Amino acid sequence: MITRHEAARMLFGADRKLHRMLQYWAGTAIMYMIVIGMLFGPAALAGQPQARAICLYVAAGVAVFYPLVRIGARIGLAPTILAGLQGIFSISCHVWGYSIAGPLRGATLVGLPVIVVFCVFALRPRQTLMLTAFNLSVMGGTMWWHAAHDPLHFPPAAEAVNFVFVAVASLAVTLLTGEMSKLRARLKTQKDDLLTALDTIRTLATIDELTKLANRRHMNELLAQEERRRDAARGPTCIAVLDIDFFKRINDSFGHAAGDSVLRDFAQATRAELREGDALARWGGEEFLLMLPNTTPANARAVLERMRARVAALEPCDGATERVSFSAGLSIWHPDEPIAETVNRADKALYAAKVAGRNRVIEA
Ligand code: GH3
Ligand code: MG
Ligand code: MG
Repeated sequence: MITRHEAARMLFGADRKLHRMLQYWAGTAIMYMIVIGMLFGPAALAGQPQARAICLYVAAGVAVFYPLVRIGARIGLAPTILAGLQGIFSISCHVWGYSIAGPLRGATLVGLPVIVVFCVFALRPRQTLMLTAFNLSVMGGTMWWHAAHDPLHFPPAAEAVNFVFVAVASLAVTLLTGEMSKLRARLKTQKDDLLTALDTIRTLATIDELTKLANRRHMNELLAQEERRRDAARGPTCIAVLDIDFFKRINDSFGHAAGDSVLRDFAQATRAELREGDALARWGGEEFLLMLPNTTPANARAVLERMRARVAALEPCDGATERVSFSAGLSIWHPDEPIAETVNRADKALYAAKVAGRNRVIEA
């Protein structure tokens, strides 16, 4: 059996925007049914041809717009055009209804400003104003024509008052909805600006500008996260501290810009060895912290050796004879120790690697 939720999904689609457009369509369909049913239903049932014709016209129009709304985006029908077409259809229903509703025709006028409200989300303020101008000229022309040809049933003075009322109401609604649209557009721009700013702040807070690796602050968050997630079922987590060898010499011999370029190349080369879930951060200056979750020390060492090979393959700075290398201290996180302690042990192992002659990995 189909649930209510499934039925709504079938009728209105899964896409949120389409869902909202089809809800509008359903709202207008209900309004048409009530208004046309009340004004012309009894006469149509009694066999009156004009009443039957308008009921059929409205039903057919409403039915045609359903598939148009549903597949509009796919066939390249812009929402503006679709709203404009629905507006024009509605105006034609009103004008026809006004002409044949007899003494009840004043009721049809109430619907004219409502058309504008329904179109406001799809049309720009200028387009809404154009729709209102079209609306009033068609309705005004119809009133004038009837007053001129059938003054007994359409007394000119009453038609003039009706027109002034509907014109004032339509223009007021158009202006107010225009202001609403501008407000909505302003809010949307502000929201987009805020989202962009938030994105920038997020990037600044987590990424190191020079190397585009995670920064120390973000790495501390990742370490804390790892500590919270402590899961005996998973494999061990390895931590390594990497430090470029004799980096000061590069700066001193080739300048700070060359040093920066080596840092960028180093980051790019080492990042290439990361799997999903691994994290590499610039820990400070020319020092980097690597976290390898679910990795045995043997595998962590293999990763570091591959990184060493990649870094060794980097082109030396212009004029330099020595290639870039790094030393690393590797430690495994014992679940009963704070992860900061694991980092300390890796740091000590790094120091040992430096003392032992650099360009190597030493395990704590
Ligand atoms: P060791 O092999 O013992 O690590 O020697 P080292 O020369 O690499 O180490 P040291 O700590 O003496 O020098 C690190 C240098 O890194 C000093 C500092 O000026 C430089 N440095 C730190 N941050 C940056 C940066 O962002 N850009 C550049 N170009 N240099 C930096
Ligand atoms: Mg160094
Ligand atoms: Mg250092």
